[in-house]
Amino acid sequence: MLFETIIMLFFTTLCDCQRSYDNYTLFRAIPVNEDQLRFLESLPDMYDAQMWIFPSQVLRNVDFTISPEDKVKFMLEANQSQMYLTTITTDVQKLFNQQTVKSYVRRQMTTFDWNNYYRTDDIYEWLKDLASTYNTVVKLFTIGTTLEKRPIYAVEISHTSNTIPDSRSTVVVEGGIHAREWISTAFVTYLLYKILHAPAEADENFQKIAFAYNWVFVPLLNPDGYEYSHTKDRLWRKNRNNNNGVDINRNFDIAFGTIGISKHETSEIYCGAKAFSERESVAMYNLLEKYNGTVEYYMAFHSFGQYLIIPYAHVKDHLENFDDVKAIGLEMIEAIKRRHGTNYVVGTAYDTVGYQTSGVSGCWAKKAYRIPYVMTFELRDTGVEGFALSPKYIEPTCKETVDGIVVFLNGKKRSVKSLHENNSSNEAHLKNVVLILNFVLFITLCFDYLMAFLFHD
Ligand SMILES: [Zn+2]
Repeated sequence: MLFETIIMLFFTTLCDCQRSYDNYTLFRAIPVNEDQLRFLESLPDMYDAQMWIFPSQVLRNVDFTISPEDKVKFMLEANQSQMYLTTITTDVQKLFNQQTVKSYVRRQMTTFDWNNYYRTDDIYEWLKDLASTYNTVVKLFTIGTTLEKRPIYAVEISHTSNTIPDSRSTVVVEGGIHAREWISTAFVTYLLYKILHAPAEADENFQKIAFAYNWVFVPLLNPDGYEYSHTKDRLWRKNRNNNNGVDINRNFDIAFGTIGISKHETSEIYCGAKAFSERESVAMYNLLEKYNGTVEYYMAFHSFGQYLIIPYAHVKDHLENFDDVKAIGLEMIEAIKRRHGTNYVVGTAYDTVGYQTSGVSGCWAKKAYRIPYVMTFELRDTGVEGFALSPKYIEPTCKETVDGIVVFLNGKKRSVKSLHENNSSNEAHLKNVVLILNFVLFITLCFDYLMAFLFHD
């Protein structure tokens, strides 16, 4: 009994370390002028406030939590500026409590599912079991080590058979760069599992994309931050460098430190001292160097908002092959919607979330390695649960997103095909013109012959 009490006390003490969001209110504000926008931008400096949707433009939603202690003061000030406010929930912790976290039992594959979330060690044990069970198809390797000494793993899945060509290009799939976006890592593990089991897959279109590429997954790029979001602060976003952390998705060498960032260490979007100052961004650099010249697709997974974001995030212009990728993106949106009716929007960061950002992984990958097809996915939802997405939505989210990816990876093939179709229709058109010209020539000759016959002397 005494032993149990000591154990109970031990766990209670552990739980006390975890930040509670009891009675924190999740608000949505819609700023109608620049003053209100500035007021919303200053919230984290003035209150115990956590931004869920960052302020961008007038008339665009801003979502954030406010502590019960600061709620009255905040509402008074918001009222004074005649801010339009709605309450999404009055107890954010209640939403977080629904996010069940399950343990994985080693060598029992069925204990890993997509109805729960998992901690870093469990995900890693599962990856190791996959690698040893399917050792001819799966290669597990380390691309870096974090400050807290956790490995950052990459998983290569390459199906081989007599009918699959060797000269396949690579698809890179990045997950878990932002700690609190748990659905990101859940989705990447789902896609990895589906690609691995493609030989048993009934859907031919899915099988085609699984076999046509070399797949490289990084399910959890920011394990230190992810663990911190499980044990200390559910809303942690950055890595754990120097306690304040760096936003890894502002730390890549593309327009670094210029727009949509902060140089203040405590900010959620602190970009770091210089590009690639962080072990996690260097790990991605190592990975792309390893596959340099072979990568054709780069997909990064985030939440939330339901957006498909095409580079470049630091500009408003639609650069390079934006129009081609957007055309495929529009088809992806249709495919995603077909399964559960989920609505997505496609465009640049500015077109979708409404603000520009720099130092983003996918933008850097596209620029530095000339990767033609790059997309950042902001998965479910649009803010009803946000980062507290219920486990019951993990599987539907995964399934509809896979539908979109099938279209993305088959899109290029289709546009090549339509190019051939255009060519063949051009040829047919040319043949018709030649036929008509020949016919006109024949009639003219007949006419000449008739004239010569009638008027010959
Ligand atoms: Zn994110």
